[in-house]
Amino acid sequence: MIKVSLISLGCAKNLVDSEIMVGHLHQAGMAVIPEAEKADVVIVNTCSFIDSSKEESIGHILEVHQNRGMKKRRKEQKLIVAGCMSQRFSKDLSTSLHDEVDAFIGLDQITKVAPIIEGIYAKDRPKDEAPANFIEGKSTYIPDYDTPRFRLTPKHFAYMKIAEGCNHPCTFCIIPQIRGRHRSRTVASVVAEARQLVKEGVKELNLISQDTTFFGMDTWEQRPNPRTPVDSSRGTALTTLLRELNAIEGDFWIRLLYTHPAHWSDELIRTIAECPKVARYIDIPLQHISDHMLGKMQRETSGDYIRDLLKRIRAGIPGIAIRTTFIVGFPGETEADVAELAGFIRETKFERLGVFRYSQEEGTRGAKMPDQIPAKVKEARWHTLMGLQRQIAAEVSKSYVGKTLKVLVEEPGVARGEADAPDIDGRVYVPRDLPVGEFVDVKITGYQDYDLLALPKGEKPAEFKVAKQAQ
Ligand code: SF4
Repeated sequence: MIKVSLISLGCAKNLVDSEIMVGHLHQAGMAVIPEAEKADVVIVNTCSFIDSSKEESIGHILEVHQNRGMKKRRKEQKLIVAGCMSQRFSKDLSTSLHDEVDAFIGLDQITKVAPIIEGIYAKDRPKDEAPANFIEGKSTYIPDYDTPRFRLTPKHFAYMKIAEGCNHPCTFCIIPQIRGRHRSRTVASVVAEARQLVKEGVKELNLISQDTTFFGMDTWEQRPNPRTPVDSSRGTALTTLLRELNAIEGDFWIRLLYTHPAHWSDELIRTIAECPKVARYIDIPLQHISDHMLGKMQRETSGDYIRDLLKRIRAGIPGIAIRTTFIVGFPGETEADVAELAGFIRETKFERLGVFRYSQEEGTRGAKMPDQIPAKVKEARWHTLMGLQRQIAAEVSKSYVGKTLKVLVEEPGVARGEADAPDIDGRVYVPRDLPVGEFVDVKITGYQDYDLLALPKGEKPAEFKVAKQAQ
Protein backbone atom coordinates (compact mmCIF):
# COMPACT_ATOMS: atom_id res chain seq x y z
CA MET A 1 0.00 0.00 0.00
CA ILE A 2 1.42 3.36 -1.02
CA LYS A 3 1.68 5.81 1.91
CA VAL A 4 0.99 9.44 1.03
CA SER A 5 1.43 12.58 3.15
CA LEU A 6 -0.21 15.89 2.18
CA ILE A 7 0.80 19.38 3.30
CA SER A 8 -2.10 21.78 2.75
CA LEU A 9 -1.28 25.50 2.48
CA GLY A 10 -3.28 28.66 1.76
CA CYS A 11 -6.99 29.36 2.02
CA ALA A 12 -10.07 27.28 2.81
CA LYS A 13 -10.71 26.75 -0.91
CA ASN A 14 -7.32 25.08 -1.21
CA LEU A 15 -8.12 23.02 1.88
CA VAL A 16 -11.23 21.66 0.13
CA ASP A 17 -8.99 20.69 -2.80
CA SER A 18 -6.74 18.84 -0.33
CA GLU A 19 -9.79 17.08 1.13
CA ILE A 20 -10.80 15.98 -2.38
CA MET A 21 -7.29 14.63 -3.05
CA VAL A 22 -7.34 12.66 0.24
CA GLY A 23 -10.81 11.32 -0.63
CA HIS A 24 -9.50 9.99 -3.96
CA LEU A 25 -6.35 8.55 -2.37
CA HIS A 26 -8.47 6.64 0.15
CA GLN A 27 -10.77 5.47 -2.65
CA ALA A 28 -7.71 4.08 -4.46
CA GLY A 29 -6.69 2.17 -1.33
CA MET A 30 -3.72 4.37 -0.49
CA ALA A 31 -2.90 5.29 3.11
CA VAL A 32 -2.72 8.99 4.00
CA ILE A 33 -0.35 9.62 6.91
CA PRO A 34 0.63 12.83 8.77
CA GLU A 35 4.39 12.13 8.85
CA ALA A 36 6.02 13.30 5.61
CA GLU A 37 9.29 11.58 6.46
CA LYS A 38 7.55 8.16 6.56
CA ALA A 39 5.58 8.61 3.33
CA ASP A 40 6.31 7.12 -0.10
CA VAL A 41 4.86 10.21 -1.73
CA VAL A 42 4.54 13.75 -0.36
CA ILE A 43 2.11 16.25 -1.90
CA VAL A 44 2.58 19.93 -1.15
CA ASN A 45 -0.68 21.72 -1.97
CA THR A 46 0.63 25.23 -2.51
CA CYS A 47 -0.67 28.81 -2.34
CA SER A 48 0.44 31.60 -4.67
CA PHE A 49 -1.74 34.56 -3.69
CA ILE A 50 1.01 36.93 -2.54
CA ASP A 51 4.79 36.86 -2.11
CA SER A 52 4.74 35.60 1.48
CA SER A 53 2.53 32.64 0.55
CA LYS A 54 4.82 31.76 -2.37
CA GLU A 55 7.82 31.84 -0.04
CA GLU A 56 6.00 29.60 2.43
CA SER A 57 5.19 27.10 -0.36
CA ILE A 58 8.78 26.98 -1.62
CA GLY A 59 9.94 26.61 1.97
CA HIS A 60 7.86 23.47 2.47
CA ILE A 61 9.00 21.96 -0.85
CA LEU A 62 12.68 22.46 0.03
CA GLU A 63 12.16 21.13 3.55
CA VAL A 64 10.60 17.89 2.28
CA HIS A 65 13.43 17.53 -0.23
CA GLN A 66 16.14 18.13 2.40
CA ASN A 67 14.51 15.65 4.79
CA ARG A 68 14.41 12.89 2.26
CA GLY A 69 18.02 13.65 1.36
CA MET A 70 19.03 13.34 5.01
CA LYS A 71 17.11 10.06 5.32
CA LYS A 72 18.72 8.74 2.11
CA ARG A 73 15.23 8.38 0.69
CA ARG A 74 15.79 10.52 -2.41
CA LYS A 75 15.37 7.61 -4.73
CA GLU A 76 12.18 6.10 -3.39
CA GLN A 77 10.20 9.05 -1.97
CA LYS A 78 8.37 11.13 -4.60
CA LEU A 79 7.47 14.80 -4.22
CA ILE A 80 4.39 16.22 -5.98
CA VAL A 81 3.54 19.93 -6.08
CA ALA A 82 -0.14 20.84 -6.40
CA GLY A 83 -2.28 23.96 -5.92
CA CYS A 84 -2.13 27.55 -7.10
CA MET A 85 1.64 27.91 -7.34
CA SER A 86 1.82 24.75 -9.46
CA GLN A 87 -1.05 25.92 -11.68
CA ARG A 88 0.63 29.28 -12.16
CA PHE A 89 4.39 28.57 -12.30
CA SER A 90 4.88 24.87 -13.13
CA LYS A 91 6.87 25.67 -16.28
CA ASP A 92 9.37 27.93 -14.47
CA LEU A 93 9.49 25.66 -11.42
CA SER A 94 10.20 22.62 -13.61
CA THR A 95 13.59 24.21 -14.20
CA SER A 96 14.30 25.88 -10.83
CA LEU A 97 13.07 22.84 -8.84
CA HIS A 98 14.15 20.20 -11.37
CA ASP A 99 15.87 18.00 -8.77
CA GLU A 100 13.42 18.55 -5.95
CA VAL A 101 10.05 17.91 -7.62
CA ASP A 102 8.92 14.75 -9.40
CA ALA A 103 5.58 16.01 -10.71
CA PHE A 104 3.37 19.09 -10.95
CA ILE A 105 -0.40 18.75 -10.90
CA GLY A 106 -2.93 21.53 -11.46
CA LEU A 107 -6.22 22.51 -9.84
CA ASP A 108 -8.20 20.32 -12.26
CA GLN A 109 -6.13 17.18 -11.61
CA ILE A 110 -7.06 16.84 -7.93
CA THR A 111 -9.46 13.98 -8.80
CA LYS A 112 -6.73 12.19 -10.78
CA VAL A 113 -4.08 12.25 -8.04
CA ALA A 114 -4.17 8.46 -7.40
CA PRO A 115 -3.44 7.26 -10.96
CA ILE A 116 -0.84 10.05 -11.26
CA ILE A 117 0.90 8.71 -8.14
CA GLU A 118 0.70 5.14 -9.41
CA GLY A 119 2.35 6.33 -12.63
CA ILE A 120 5.27 8.23 -11.13
CA TYR A 121 5.82 5.87 -8.16
CA ALA A 122 6.35 2.90 -10.44
CA LYS A 123 9.30 4.39 -12.28
CA ASP A 124 12.60 6.05 -11.52
CA ARG A 125 13.01 9.46 -13.16
CA PRO A 126 16.33 9.70 -15.02
CA LYS A 127 18.45 12.61 -13.71
CA ASP A 128 18.10 14.70 -16.86
CA GLU A 129 14.36 14.10 -17.30
CA ALA A 130 12.14 17.07 -16.41
CA PRO A 131 9.53 16.67 -13.67
CA ALA A 132 6.25 15.33 -15.02
CA ASN A 133 3.67 18.04 -15.68
CA PHE A 134 -0.02 17.08 -15.68
CA ILE A 135 -1.47 20.61 -15.97
CA GLU A 136 -3.87 21.06 -18.89
CA GLY A 137 -4.51 24.80 -19.40
CA LYS A 138 -6.94 27.05 -17.52
CA SER A 139 -8.85 25.67 -14.55
CA THR A 140 -12.53 24.85 -15.17
CA TYR A 141 -13.16 22.13 -12.58
CA ILE A 142 -15.84 22.38 -9.87
CA PRO A 143 -16.60 19.54 -7.41
CA ASP A 144 -20.06 18.03 -6.80
CA TYR A 145 -21.84 16.77 -3.70
CA ASP A 146 -20.73 13.17 -4.32
CA THR A 147 -17.10 13.95 -5.13
CA PRO A 148 -14.97 11.67 -2.92
CA ARG A 149 -13.67 13.85 -0.11
CA PHE A 150 -12.15 13.31 3.31
CA ARG A 151 -12.76 16.29 5.61
CA LEU A 152 -9.64 17.67 7.30
CA THR A 153 -11.55 20.09 9.53
CA PRO A 154 -12.78 19.14 13.03
CA LYS A 155 -16.00 17.09 12.95
CA HIS A 156 -18.23 19.99 13.99
CA PHE A 157 -17.54 22.38 11.09
CA ALA A 158 -17.02 22.07 7.36
CA TYR A 159 -16.16 24.26 4.38
CA MET A 160 -18.50 24.03 1.42
CA LYS A 161 -17.05 25.26 -1.87
CA ILE A 162 -20.19 26.49 -3.67
CA ALA A 163 -18.36 27.99 -6.66
CA GLU A 164 -14.86 28.47 -8.04
CA GLY A 165 -13.04 31.10 -10.09
CA CYS A 166 -13.76 34.83 -10.37
CA ASN A 167 -14.87 37.31 -13.05
CA HIS A 168 -13.84 40.48 -11.22
CA PRO A 169 -11.07 42.75 -12.61
CA CYS A 170 -9.39 43.75 -9.32
CA THR A 171 -6.02 45.12 -10.41
CA PHE A 172 -4.06 43.75 -7.41
CA CYS A 173 -5.32 40.17 -7.69
CA ILE A 174 -3.89 37.19 -9.56
CA ILE A 175 -6.63 34.69 -8.61
CA PRO A 176 -8.74 34.89 -11.79
CA GLN A 177 -5.61 34.02 -13.81
CA ILE A 178 -5.02 30.95 -11.61
CA ARG A 179 -8.52 29.72 -10.75
CA GLY A 180 -10.27 30.76 -14.00
CA ARG A 181 -13.73 32.17 -14.67
CA HIS A 182 -16.52 31.96 -12.09
CA ARG A 183 -18.53 28.71 -12.20
CA SER A 184 -21.19 27.81 -9.65
CA ARG A 185 -22.43 24.44 -8.46
CA THR A 186 -26.17 23.83 -8.60
CA VAL A 187 -28.40 24.54 -5.61
CA ALA A 188 -29.39 20.84 -5.56
CA SER A 189 -25.73 19.78 -5.37
CA VAL A 190 -24.92 22.15 -2.46
CA VAL A 191 -28.11 21.23 -0.58
CA ALA A 192 -27.40 17.50 -0.98
CA GLU A 193 -23.92 18.00 0.46
CA ALA A 194 -25.27 20.13 3.32
CA ARG A 195 -27.89 17.51 4.22
CA GLN A 196 -25.18 14.85 4.40
CA LEU A 197 -22.90 17.05 6.54
CA VAL A 198 -25.70 17.92 8.98
CA LYS A 199 -26.56 14.20 9.21
CA GLU A 200 -22.89 13.58 10.13
CA GLY A 201 -23.26 16.02 13.04
CA VAL A 202 -21.69 19.12 11.45
CA LYS A 203 -22.81 22.25 13.33
CA GLU A 204 -21.37 24.93 11.04
CA LEU A 205 -21.46 25.09 7.23
CA ASN A 206 -18.97 27.68 5.95
CA LEU A 207 -19.94 28.73 2.41
CA ILE A 208 -16.80 29.62 0.43
CA SER A 209 -15.74 30.59 -3.09
CA GLN A 210 -13.82 33.51 -4.59
CA ASP A 211 -17.05 35.54 -4.86
CA THR A 212 -19.88 33.95 -2.87
CA THR A 213 -22.36 36.71 -3.76
CA PHE A 214 -22.06 35.86 -7.48
CA PHE A 215 -23.40 32.33 -6.81
CA GLY A 216 -25.74 31.17 -9.60
CA MET A 217 -25.44 34.41 -11.57
CA ASP A 218 -23.10 32.79 -14.12
CA THR A 219 -26.08 30.63 -15.17
CA TRP A 220 -28.39 33.58 -15.88
CA GLU A 221 -29.71 33.94 -19.41
CA GLN A 222 -29.00 37.67 -19.42
CA ARG A 223 -25.32 37.95 -18.55
CA PRO A 224 -24.78 39.91 -15.31
CA ASN A 225 -21.92 42.42 -14.96
CA PRO A 226 -19.48 42.87 -12.03
CA ARG A 227 -21.97 45.23 -10.33
CA THR A 228 -25.17 43.25 -10.78
CA PRO A 229 -27.04 42.86 -7.46
CA VAL A 230 -28.24 39.48 -6.16
CA ASP A 231 -31.75 39.13 -7.63
CA SER A 232 -33.50 35.73 -7.73
CA SER A 233 -36.15 37.06 -10.15
CA ARG A 234 -33.44 36.86 -12.83
CA GLY A 235 -32.38 33.28 -12.03
CA THR A 236 -30.72 31.13 -9.38
CA ALA A 237 -29.02 33.32 -6.80
CA LEU A 238 -27.35 33.14 -3.40
CA THR A 239 -30.73 33.96 -1.82
CA THR A 240 -32.24 30.86 -3.46
CA LEU A 241 -29.51 28.74 -1.92
CA LEU A 242 -29.72 30.31 1.56
CA ARG A 243 -33.47 29.68 1.80
CA GLU A 244 -33.03 26.03 0.79
CA LEU A 245 -30.16 25.50 3.26
CA ASN A 246 -32.15 27.22 6.01
CA ALA A 247 -34.99 24.75 5.39
CA ILE A 248 -32.81 21.76 6.23
CA GLU A 249 -33.80 20.26 9.59
CA GLY A 250 -31.31 20.57 12.45
CA ASP A 251 -29.47 23.07 14.64
CA PHE A 252 -26.54 24.50 12.69
CA TRP A 253 -24.99 27.74 11.46
CA ILE A 254 -24.62 28.74 7.79
CA ARG A 255 -21.69 31.16 7.54
CA LEU A 256 -21.15 33.47 4.57
CA LEU A 257 -17.52 34.02 3.62
CA TYR A 258 -15.88 35.97 0.72
CA THR A 259 -18.83 38.12 -0.35
CA HIS A 260 -18.15 40.96 -2.82
CA PRO A 261 -19.77 44.32 -1.90
CA ALA A 262 -20.76 45.04 -5.51
CA HIS A 263 -23.40 42.27 -5.63
CA TRP A 264 -25.13 42.91 -2.30
CA SER A 265 -28.86 43.78 -2.54
CA ASP A 266 -31.87 44.45 -0.31
CA GLU A 267 -33.09 40.97 -1.28
CA LEU A 268 -29.92 39.42 0.16
CA ILE A 269 -30.16 41.50 3.34
CA ARG A 270 -33.83 40.51 3.78
CA THR A 271 -33.10 36.84 3.12
CA ILE A 272 -30.36 36.70 5.78
CA ALA A 273 -32.67 38.46 8.24
CA GLU A 274 -35.43 35.91 7.54
CA CYS A 275 -33.18 32.82 7.73
CA PRO A 276 -32.29 32.20 11.41
CA LYS A 277 -29.72 29.53 10.54
CA VAL A 278 -27.61 32.04 8.63
CA ALA A 279 -25.06 33.24 11.20
CA ARG A 280 -25.29 36.90 12.18
CA TYR A 281 -21.91 37.37 10.57
CA ILE A 282 -20.70 38.41 7.13
CA ASP A 283 -17.27 38.51 5.57
CA ILE A 284 -17.16 41.35 3.01
CA PRO A 285 -13.63 42.34 1.88
CA LEU A 286 -13.84 46.07 0.97
CA GLN A 287 -10.13 46.64 0.28
CA HIS A 288 -10.39 50.45 0.60
CA ILE A 289 -12.88 53.35 0.95
CA SER A 290 -11.38 56.26 -0.97
CA ASP A 291 -12.77 56.59 -4.49
CA HIS A 292 -9.24 57.29 -5.69
CA MET A 293 -8.08 53.85 -4.49
CA LEU A 294 -11.29 51.94 -5.27
CA GLY A 295 -11.03 53.26 -8.85
CA LYS A 296 -7.38 52.22 -9.28
CA MET A 297 -8.13 48.82 -7.73
CA GLN A 298 -11.18 48.44 -10.04
CA ARG A 299 -13.36 47.31 -7.18
CA GLU A 300 -16.61 48.24 -8.98
CA THR A 301 -17.78 50.12 -5.89
CA SER A 302 -17.50 53.67 -4.55
CA GLY A 303 -17.07 55.05 -1.03
CA ASP A 304 -20.66 56.31 -0.92
CA TYR A 305 -22.00 52.99 -2.18
CA ILE A 306 -20.09 51.11 0.55
CA ARG A 307 -21.14 53.48 3.36
CA ASP A 308 -24.78 53.21 2.29
CA LEU A 309 -24.58 49.43 1.96
CA LEU A 310 -23.15 48.93 5.48
CA LYS A 311 -25.88 51.15 6.92
CA ARG A 312 -28.55 49.05 5.15
CA ILE A 313 -26.94 45.79 6.34
CA ARG A 314 -26.76 46.94 9.98
CA ALA A 315 -30.35 48.23 9.84
CA GLY A 316 -31.70 45.15 8.06
CA ILE A 317 -29.93 42.46 10.12
CA PRO A 318 -29.89 43.39 13.83
CA GLY A 319 -26.85 42.10 15.73
CA ILE A 320 -24.84 41.42 12.57
CA ALA A 321 -21.05 41.18 12.97
CA ILE A 322 -19.13 42.47 9.96
CA ARG A 323 -15.67 41.23 9.01
CA THR A 324 -13.69 43.03 6.36
CA THR A 325 -10.16 43.39 4.99
CA PHE A 326 -8.32 46.39 3.59
CA ILE A 327 -5.14 46.77 1.55
CA VAL A 328 -2.68 49.54 2.41
CA GLY A 329 0.12 50.72 0.16
CA PHE A 330 -1.54 50.21 -3.23
CA PRO A 331 0.26 52.24 -5.94
CA GLY A 332 -0.58 55.93 -5.76
CA GLU A 333 -2.12 55.74 -2.27
CA THR A 334 -1.83 59.17 -0.61
CA GLU A 335 -1.82 60.18 3.05
CA ALA A 336 -5.30 61.62 2.39
CA ASP A 337 -6.50 58.18 1.20
CA VAL A 338 -5.15 56.58 4.39
CA ALA A 339 -6.71 59.30 6.56
CA GLU A 340 -10.07 58.72 4.90
CA LEU A 341 -9.74 54.97 5.51
CA ALA A 342 -8.82 55.51 9.17
CA GLY A 343 -11.86 57.80 9.58
CA PHE A 344 -14.09 55.18 7.98
CA ILE A 345 -12.77 52.43 10.29
CA ARG A 346 -13.26 54.67 13.35
CA GLU A 347 -16.84 55.50 12.24
CA THR A 348 -17.93 51.98 11.18
CA LYS A 349 -16.48 50.00 14.11
CA PHE A 350 -16.09 46.68 12.27
CA GLU A 351 -16.42 43.74 14.62
CA ARG A 352 -13.67 41.93 12.76
CA LEU A 353 -11.00 43.51 10.53
CA GLY A 354 -7.74 42.56 8.82
CA VAL A 355 -5.26 44.73 6.90
CA PHE A 356 -2.89 43.53 4.18
CA ARG A 357 0.21 45.33 2.97
CA TYR A 358 -0.07 45.57 -0.82
CA SER A 359 1.97 42.84 -2.56
CA GLN A 360 3.20 43.74 -6.07
CA GLU A 361 2.05 40.54 -7.83
CA GLU A 362 3.73 39.73 -11.15
CA GLY A 363 1.08 39.40 -13.89
CA THR A 364 -1.39 41.86 -12.29
CA ARG A 365 -2.10 45.34 -13.66
CA GLY A 366 -1.33 46.85 -10.26
CA ALA A 367 2.24 45.56 -10.50
CA LYS A 368 2.88 47.66 -13.61
CA MET A 369 1.43 50.86 -12.14
CA PRO A 370 3.65 53.87 -11.35
CA ASP A 371 3.89 55.34 -7.81
CA GLN A 372 4.63 52.04 -6.04
CA ILE A 373 4.72 52.68 -2.28
CA PRO A 374 7.97 51.96 -0.34
CA ALA A 375 7.80 49.03 2.13
CA LYS A 376 8.54 51.30 5.12
CA VAL A 377 5.53 53.50 4.30
CA LYS A 378 3.29 50.42 3.87
CA GLU A 379 4.48 49.19 7.27
CA ALA A 380 3.69 52.49 8.98
CA ARG A 381 0.23 52.64 7.41
CA TRP A 382 -0.43 49.00 8.42
CA HIS A 383 0.48 49.75 12.03
CA THR A 384 -1.69 52.86 12.11
CA LEU A 385 -4.80 50.99 11.00
CA MET A 386 -4.21 47.83 13.05
CA GLY A 387 -3.52 49.98 16.13
CA LEU A 388 -6.85 51.73 15.59
CA GLN A 389 -8.68 48.42 15.15
CA ARG A 390 -7.19 47.02 18.33
CA GLN A 391 -8.93 49.77 20.33
CA ILE A 392 -12.20 49.20 18.47
CA ALA A 393 -11.94 45.43 19.00
CA ALA A 394 -11.64 45.97 22.76
CA GLU A 395 -14.76 48.20 22.70
CA VAL A 396 -16.63 45.58 20.67
CA SER A 397 -15.56 42.81 23.07
CA LYS A 398 -16.55 44.93 26.10
CA SER A 399 -20.05 45.34 24.63
CA TYR A 400 -20.58 41.57 24.94
CA VAL A 401 -19.93 41.46 28.72
CA GLY A 402 -23.05 40.41 30.60
CA LYS A 403 -24.67 38.99 27.47
CA THR A 404 -25.53 35.31 26.98
CA LEU A 405 -24.16 33.94 23.71
CA LYS A 406 -24.67 30.69 21.82
CA VAL A 407 -21.17 29.33 21.18
CA LEU A 408 -19.72 26.28 19.42
CA VAL A 409 -17.17 24.47 21.58
CA GLU A 410 -14.05 23.82 19.51
CA GLU A 411 -11.78 22.14 22.06
CA PRO A 412 -11.76 21.80 25.87
CA GLY A 413 -12.09 25.35 27.26
CA VAL A 414 -12.19 27.07 23.85
CA ALA A 415 -15.27 28.01 21.79
CA ARG A 416 -16.35 30.35 18.99
CA GLY A 417 -19.38 32.60 18.83
CA GLU A 418 -21.52 33.48 15.85
CA ALA A 419 -19.19 36.46 15.26
CA ASP A 420 -16.11 34.23 14.93
CA ALA A 421 -15.27 32.37 11.74
CA PRO A 422 -12.84 29.44 12.02
CA ASP A 423 -9.13 30.21 12.11
CA ILE A 424 -9.39 33.97 11.39
CA ASP A 425 -11.42 35.55 14.22
CA GLY A 426 -11.57 35.56 18.03
CA ARG A 427 -12.37 32.91 20.63
CA VAL A 428 -14.60 32.54 23.63
CA TYR A 429 -12.89 30.93 26.61
CA VAL A 430 -15.32 28.67 28.45
CA PRO A 431 -15.19 26.09 31.28
CA ARG A 432 -13.17 23.06 30.18
CA ASP A 433 -15.95 20.55 30.89
CA LEU A 434 -18.30 21.85 28.17
CA PRO A 435 -18.93 19.28 25.36
CA VAL A 436 -16.63 19.72 22.32
CA GLY A 437 -18.44 20.01 18.99
CA GLU A 438 -21.71 21.14 20.59
CA PHE A 439 -23.55 24.44 20.93
CA VAL A 440 -23.89 25.81 24.46
CA ASP A 441 -25.25 29.09 25.83
CA VAL A 442 -22.71 30.92 27.98
CA LYS A 443 -22.70 34.23 29.83
CA ILE A 444 -19.82 36.55 28.92
CA THR A 445 -17.90 37.59 32.06
CA GLY A 446 -14.87 39.34 30.58
CA TYR A 447 -12.70 40.00 27.53
CA GLN A 448 -9.15 40.47 26.28
CA ASP A 449 -8.72 42.34 22.96
CA TYR A 450 -10.42 40.13 20.34
CA ASP A 451 -11.33 37.30 22.73
CA LEU A 452 -14.17 36.85 25.22
CA LEU A 453 -14.30 35.05 28.56
CA ALA A 454 -17.29 33.07 29.80
CA LEU A 455 -15.86 31.71 33.02
CA PRO A 456 -17.05 31.49 36.61
CA LYS A 457 -15.29 34.01 38.87
CA GLY A 458 -11.67 33.07 39.59
CA GLU A 459 -11.46 30.40 36.86
CA LYS A 460 -8.60 31.05 34.42
CA PRO A 461 -9.15 30.53 30.68
CA ALA A 462 -7.62 27.49 28.98
CA GLU A 463 -4.55 29.36 27.70
CA PHE A 464 -4.64 32.89 29.10
CA LYS A 465 -2.02 34.09 31.52
CA VAL A 466 -3.80 37.30 32.59
CA ALA A 467 -7.54 37.86 32.14
CA LYS A 468 -9.79 40.86 32.83
CA GLN A 469 -12.78 39.76 34.96
CA ALA A 470 -15.67 42.25 34.96
CA GLN A 471 -16.05 43.56 38.55
S1 SF4 B 1 -13.09 39.51 -6.21
FE1 SF4 B 1 -11.22 40.56 -6.78
S2 SF4 B 1 -9.86 40.12 -5.04
FE2 SF4 B 1 -11.49 38.62 -4.94
S3 SF4 B 1 -10.72 36.82 -6.06
FE3 SF4 B 1 -11.90 38.11 -7.49
S4 SF4 B 1 -10.37 39.40 -8.51
FE4 SF4 B 1 -9.46 38.57 -6.63
